Amino acid sequence: RTVYVNGDYLPEDQATVSVFDRGFLMADGVYEVVSVLDGKLLDFDGHLVRLKRSLDELSMDNPLSDDDYLAAFRALVERNGITDGMIYLQVTRGNPGDRDFAYPPAGTRPTVVMFTQSKPGLADAPAAKTGWKIISIPDQRWARRDIKTVQLLYPSMAKMEAKARGVDDAWLVEDGLVTEGTSNNTYIVKNGTIVTRALSNDILHGITRAAVLRFAAEAQMQVEERSFTIAEAQAADEAFITSASAFVMPVVEIDGAAVGTGQVGPVATRLREIYLEESRKAAI
Ligand code: PMP
Repeated sequence: RTVYVNGDYLPEDQATVSVFDRGFLMADGVYEVVSVLDGKLLDFDGHLVRLKRSLDELSMDNPLSDDDYLAAFRALVERNGITDGMIYLQVTRGNPGDRDFAYPPAGTRPTVVMFTQSKPGLADAPAAKTGWKIISIPDQRWARRDIKTVQLLYPSMAKMEAKARGVDDAWLVEDGLVTEGTSNNTYIVKNGTIVTRALSNDILHGITRAAVLRFAAEAQMQVEERSFTIAEAQAADEAFITSASAFVMPVVEIDGAAVGTGQVGPVATRLREIYLEESRKAAI
């Protein structure tokens, strides 16, 4: 693979970052994941808007222009021959030359890293036909989940717990209510109404979530933005998640209980189709 580090395109085994980088020592950095279908970028603008918001919330300078990001993404897609897959972008507060809790002086150059992941057939994931099984576990992350930081240890632990219990993912629960999945936003469908938690600092403001809710409204589907419990999800007609890399993925089992018929339902299926169709059309 050819990867991007601070303006250079390098073979992955020659790309390096300092041991003093605050991303490495403090998880002081933010990231984005953008899907590529047919060599084109999905929802590039939305991801850049969120990147800038994350940087802003952490008082970090945005090191590149929108055009620079776009040019680098396209160069990586081209150099790595990506048809379907993902681009990972990470911006950390850079290398102050030593370890210190205080932020380094203004002007310290942020570290920008980008790389591709090839996923042939990304849009045709067989799991979309069978659905995911998930478990619920307590949400023990910090309280600013709206900032897309690289501090991903708890979601990794949750994912490992899901794996150990033979399922696909975990939904995180706080004060008896589902916040989101380890790396996705969560939804249930009851009597035709799509329910998903409202935006706040408690969850990441998913780019796919915004698109799916827009498409749902355009298709005259009912949407309620409110929190729900695991019991309500288990009693729902359907459940699903959204993320930039899984798109819309049905959930058919929660903590061992079948959701609805236990099969992938019509609302999730339709939303996945609409999302993929519209996103491909708008891809750049
Ligand atoms: N919540 C969390 C915690 C996530 O990590 C992600 C994926 N980055 C999402 C939601 C979904 O966001 P998006 O649709 O922008 O990928």
